[in-house]
Amino acid sequence: MQQAFESVYDGYWYIMGKHLSQFEKEYASFNQIQYAIGISNGLDALYLALKALEIGEGDEVIMPSNTFIATVLAVSYTGAKPVFVEPNEKTYLINPDLIAQAITSNTKAIIPVHLYGQACEMDKIMQIAGKYNLKVIEDNAQAHGATFNGKLTGSFGHINATSFYPGKNLGALGDAGACTTNDAALAEKILMLRNYGSREKYKHEVIGHNMRLDELQAAFLSVKLRHLYEWTRQRLEIAAWYNGALAGMGDLILPEVGSDSTHVYHLYVIRTNYRDKLQAFLAEKGIGTLIHYPIPPHLQKAYAHLGFKEGDFPVAEKLAKTSLSLPIWPGIKKECIKKISNNLIEFYKNG
Ligand SMILES: *Cc1c(COP(=O)(O)O)cnc(C)c1O
Repeated sequence: MQQAFESVYDGYWYIMGKHLSQFEKEYASFNQIQYAIGISNGLDALYLALKALEIGEGDEVIMPSNTFIATVLAVSYTGAKPVFVEPNEKTYLINPDLIAQAITSNTKAIIPVHLYGQACEMDKIMQIAGKYNLKVIEDNAQAHGATFNGKLTGSFGHINATSFYPGKNLGALGDAGACTTNDAALAEKILMLRNYGSREKYKHEVIGHNMRLDELQAAFLSVKLRHLYEWTRQRLEIAAWYNGALAGMGDLILPEVGSDSTHVYHLYVIRTNYRDKLQAFLAEKGIGTLIHYPIPPHLQKAYAHLGFKEGDFPVAEKLAKTSLSLPIWPGIKKECIKKISNNLIEFYKNG
């Protein structure tokens, strides 16, 4: 990383230079896709993907009711309306069987979110999109390297977005993101949109933005990308340790992986009706856990104008009340997982 820093620092070229092109090439190759375009962050990447598809006022975009708020915000920025579809209660991923009934004459796109690191059922989603002539934008912020039927997430949709926020499986040392696509024309549009609507310096073809990825972050990401396979292997190993230690305990529900999907365990999310008590119990033992996410988008104050109330998306609401993310990151020791698991065992024994 020191070397990457010095290479950028000594190059005296900090925006849109060779480190960015290099990382874009490497990430496209990793993602087995033609084009990767570095963007300022994951939210901007989602927004630019929607803009490139010319989605805006009067349009509707389908997404899961249990996603992170950024998916929803990106759609709001364009003026389009977010339309929520409930997830499958076992995989926590958008339920493809419920998509068709949410489609109206205004629907333009579907955003499947590979939540927690597991690939959505992309065959069904692409089939529905084809049938109704909709665009697909994968939100691949949490699932770098996951696959559905052997094909990588971020390579199915017409154009896709990912995030390299520091906490993601591939993280920069600050904000960063990317769009991925096999469509040359869409790639060209994204290049323009991220840089003042300009292809040629001082010539502006569209009202663009400043949503570029810095040289410094790109250089750091190139270094970290080389470790991603190993880090993913470790995440899978840690998940297997948890699965082994926690199987069949109390009312605990462990992560379930769909038959054609792989999971890269960005998060290891368990579920229990005693979630709040368990979280407090673990905190007392010095074990920090998180909730992804405590309030589903339709119940957020920012989306009060959509007019939803408690009970409108019961699966998302149930997941928000029962989910708990246990510690998982590459390098966490087996003894540490054992200690956490033993505390869960103790919680259920006494409780
Ligand atoms: C992190 C994340 C984003 C947004 O990425 P940022 O880089 O933080 O803007 C979007 N969608 C999902 C599902 C995410 O987890």
